[in-house]
Amino acid sequence: MELREIGNDVYACLTPDRGLGWSNSGLVRRGGGLVVDTFWDLPHTRALMDLYRRVLPTPAQRVVNTHHNGDHCWGNQLFHGAEIIGHRRCAEAFTKDPTPAGLEMLRGAGAGAGSDPTLAAFAAMLADWDFTGIELTPPTTLVDERLDLDLDGLRVELLYVGPAHSIGDLIVHLPAERVVFAGDVLFRLCTPIGWEGTYAQWLAALDTIIALAPEVVVPGHGPLSGLEGPREMRAYLVYIREESRRHFDAGLSEVEAAKRIDLGPYAGWTEPERLIFNVERAYREFRGLPLDAPIDVLTTFRGMYELRTHFAAHAR
Ligand SMILES: [Zn+2]
Repeated sequence: MELREIGNDVYACLTPDRGLGWSNSGLVRRGGGLVVDTFWDLPHTRALMDLYRRVLPTPAQRVVNTHHNGDHCWGNQLFHGAEIIGHRRCAEAFTKDPTPAGLEMLRGAGAGAGSDPTLAAFAAMLADWDFTGIELTPPTTLVDERLDLDLDGLRVELLYVGPAHSIGDLIVHLPAERVVFAGDVLFRLCTPIGWEGTYAQWLAALDTIIALAPEVVVPGHGPLSGLEGPREMRAYLVYIREESRRHFDAGLSEVEAAKRIDLGPYAGWTEPERLIFNVERAYREFRGLPLDAPIDVLTTFRGMYELRTHFAAHAR
């Protein structure tokens, strides 16, 4: 992981890997310190804290969670005594995802000999993580539409833009420094994956970031960008929704549709197989299902595994 100064007293911690769970974090070194997102497990969050200690020797007094996915908040408990801030729906969703213990079991079971190939592939993606000892520590300072903070004269705006990538999406805007921490509303050079939300709201969330005209956007995953990041991801979502519509109308399954979509300019993004989640979201909307209709995660993961094999064969 790498610490980058992106403004006066503003830092991003970037992880170069764009695979499952490798997320970014941020630090504002004012008003006692504000951290944007922790990491997926305790060892990686400890390493993050070591990095932040180089520029802020005292423990940060605030942590903002951009949303409830574990790779952005399962390290919260290590920030002893800090005020944990998040959207009300982020806090409510905290216990609805698979638990750390469940993932730790899957990590062990999937690696076993003779296990299901989808499970084995999933377990392999979890190999670098250690989910032991995690105690879910949800936000207790809850945001509805927005919360403005004054960190020793530096204005920080927490803006609700969900349900886009997930139900409680907050972005963190520092107008004077022209920085936005986008959480998973923005994936950069890697394929987005979303949970509870709609295409319309995800596009609106990206439009909100674009309208703020930041110089630096810190994505939830992937490298820093300017406005080209949210613009490209917006175009990707529009394109995938249109292509999905065509294949939906032709009666194709989600997996068959995903196999036929030409990724064109997005073919170089990592994790292209996550396309299945975006097709699945489009199909849910075409079927008129509510934005928080349960996702059949295991079936979608199987589709993702099939698609990965398909892309690998076509890349040869
Ligand atoms: Zn994430």
